[in-house]
Amino acid sequence: MADKDYYAILGVDKNATDDEIKKAYRKMAKKWHPDANPDNRKEAEEKFKEVGEAYATLSDPQKRKMYDQFGTAGANGSYSGGFNGFNGFNGFNGGTYYSTGGFGFDDMVDDFVSSIFGGGFGRSSRTATKTGPRKGNDLRYNLDVTFEESYTGTKKEIVINKNVKCDTCHGTGAKPGTSVQTCSVCHGTGKVKKAQSLAGFATIQTVVTCENCRGTGKVIPNPCETCKGKGTVRKQVTLNVDIPAGIDDGQTLVVQGKGEPGVNGGEYGDLYINVRVKKSSIFTRNGDNIECTIPVTITQATLGANIKVPTVGGEEEEFAIPEGTQSGTKFTLKNKGFKKLHSNSSGDLIFTVSVQIPKKLTKEQRALFVELAKTMNEQPPAKKRGIFG
Ligand SMILES: [Zn+2]
Ligand SMILES: [Zn+2]
Repeated sequence: MADKDYYAILGVDKNATDDEIKKAYRKMAKKWHPDANPDNRKEAEEKFKEVGEAYATLSDPQKRKMYDQFGTAGANGSYSGGFNGFNGFNGFNGGTYYSTGGFGFDDMVDDFVSSIFGGGFGRSSRTATKTGPRKGNDLRYNLDVTFEESYTGTKKEIVINKNVKCDTCHGTGAKPGTSVQTCSVCHGTGKVKKAQSLAGFATIQTVVTCENCRGTGKVIPNPCETCKGKGTVRKQVTLNVDIPAGIDDGQTLVVQGKGEPGVNGGEYGDLYINVRVKKSSIFTRNGDNIECTIPVTITQATLGANIKVPTVGGEEEEFAIPEGTQSGTKFTLKNKGFKKLHSNSSGDLIFTVSVQIPKKLTKEQRALFVELAKTMNEQPPAKKRGIFG
């Protein structure tokens, strides 16, 4: 779904309200309904399917948010694929898992389209999807890291609750020694035909999920006692995740295949780790550059000085500011910024000098400033004396 512009498909802009999306969907679905396009049926079927997909995603706030972040329009550069640092599971081995839970993407498209238009168009392929392999649920995890950790990269142990294959029945849901049987009501299709009347539409025959087997096409006469026939159990799973150096606030690590097990041999869902970077009291991030402000004294600024500049890594860098440095001047420490993703280069550390005017002077310092003022033909006011001065 990452290479399709769902907003363009529905003809709405990125800020469209739910209502606008719904209206646009109805309009586009009518426009591209294959029955309304007998001359270019093939194209219409394709478009109609896309429109359904687009709506299924954009009408669901969570899916829309995910799409905005990872879809074509996503400017935030999420990681995908080559996430090598992931170390996999600790708690159990990665066998084949089986899950009957969850409400997948295909269900949504299927049920929504059928509730508007009834059965007929494209039914066979979607029916197959219902009882055929289905990808497991994606999981989401919010991970907080410190500013320093985002700079150096870090290893994190995360604990998630997820469905895993039941050990007792090996995921079948059937009590050991018994077997799963084909549903006698729907004969394994997971669907039954039903007459339905919908507002604004004529009475139509529609295909609905079989209640006997809840759409799975299978029944379990003797359910496994451990998982109550689900084939999966909830389990707390610990994962070790490598957070790469340079990760930015709001970026997401997509760990493919580490979601929940698929249904009927479908592939695993993915794990989305949304990284949130805490603010630093010293540094701010600007792209791959790091910015901070360094206070210097009036004499350092005037005469020039070797100053120490803190870096995010914890070390201090010596830097020579020249004679006559003005407050607000920016200096750059090359390659001391964030590591650029998928690259060996780094951004810079840019610090701004802030000249501190002394608020209190010793007698001696004041005398020297007065002398200095005289060399500039200035007449400094006499110091106010306190009552005990
Ligand atoms: Zn079981
Ligand atoms: Zn059935």
